[in-house]
Amino acid sequence: MIVRARVVVTMDGAPINGGAVRVHRDRIVEVGNFFELAALSPAGEARDGVVDLGEQILLPGLINAHCHLDYTCLRGRIPYQNSFADWIRAINAEKAKLAPSDYLRSIADGFHEARRFGTTSIVNLEAFPELIAQLPPQPLRIWWCAEFIDVNTPVKPAMEATRPPIGRTRPVASLPPQNTGEIVSAAVRDLKSIPKNRGGIGLAPHAPFTASAELYRTCEKIAEHDRFLLTTHIAESREEMEMFCERSGPLFEFLKSLGRPMDDCGANTPLTVFLEKLNSRAIGVNRPYHRWLIAHLNELAETDFDLLRGMPQTPSIAHCPRSHAYFQHSPFAFEQLDTLGFNICLGTDSLASNTNLSLFAEMRQFRRMHASIPVENILAMVTVNPAKAIRAEDFLGKIRPGYQADMIAIPATSETSSAYESIINFTGDVPWIMIGGEPA
Ligand SMILES: [Zn+2]
Repeated sequence: MIVRARVVVTMDGAPINGGAVRVHRDRIVEVGNFFELAALSPAGEARDGVVDLGEQILLPGLINAHCHLDYTCLRGRIPYQNSFADWIRAINAEKAKLAPSDYLRSIADGFHEARRFGTTSIVNLEAFPELIAQLPPQPLRIWWCAEFIDVNTPVKPAMEATRPPIGRTRPVASLPPQNTGEIVSAAVRDLKSIPKNRGGIGLAPHAPFTASAELYRTCEKIAEHDRFLLTTHIAESREEMEMFCERSGPLFEFLKSLGRPMDDCGANTPLTVFLEKLNSRAIGVNRPYHRWLIAHLNELAETDFDLLRGMPQTPSIAHCPRSHAYFQHSPFAFEQLDTLGFNICLGTDSLASNTNLSLFAEMRQFRRMHASIPVENILAMVTVNPAKAIRAEDFLGKIRPGYQADMIAIPATSETSSAYESIINFTGDVPWIMIGGEPA
């Protein structure tokens, strides 16, 4: 099959006017000018034919680097809070009203919405891995990352368990079995049992303020063995910085009231606490930082930049522009992190702090805050860069021979000067999507 469009934005070189892509089964096999591709068609090609998209721009399917599909149903349900700790309280109050069937519907609604906005792959932090096998197989590629907290160790028997003491995650401390390694392994088994998963598996200790050193190290060890993705939230809010640096503030008081041991607070930044939990203050030690996809990094001290500069292997970073604006976090240090060589990606975060799952809207919000960055580089943050973060850079994120045929098309507009401009300005539903060579 040949897919023909007015412009093909490959993210693998310059856009091709009058371009075309030859697809065989799930793969892209050839990319170039339509007439050249058509002239080279093998005899059997006529049977498959040509899909002529006309006045459209064909581009790689978009990849969301940070999302919580569990909370799609919380759109508009959390009133704005002045404090991050209060936002966690508010989301907990809403979650207390939800049953497993609500979460399953929420995730399915999230699939549908992400697909409408041209997203073909999602890194999804999943608080309920045990539910996911019940979902019908669907075309999107999801990197299911089991999310854990153990905010108030020691481990409690399940019968004493209450609802998660903090937002957004599954409480390690209140689930059987009781050993952290067994709990993480059980979640991995749940994720491995998902039928026809076209994406991958990851582990997500929630954040340094909700996950213990034991939990971080257990996840890192299991991920290293099975080559899973690792992801976590670091330095998201000023309150997290205040908690770890000064032993004070609303988040400190909230977590203390839950019985969290607060002995890691008072002297360190959130990034330092994360590295200490991994037992890697000695930064020269060769650790698998490249396996980590770190969400946020909004609050960084000068000493943090020294630590980041010293990392032999850099983690990837997921920045969520509209969630960032919603919480009014400190400015995201894009230029500094980019200069240091970090692989920076965009995500939507959950709809508890965002209005929809559109990565086009995330690109526009990013440009509002970082106007000097070329649009092509911004598009890379939802294609090439997240593909690298999930170690799929050899088969996702570009329109290139050998890659998966994950592509979307949007109308080409004559008002804008370039295909990249048309893409970043696109609003509405994406009219054409292909995932793994199949219309989706
Ligand atoms: Zn998140």
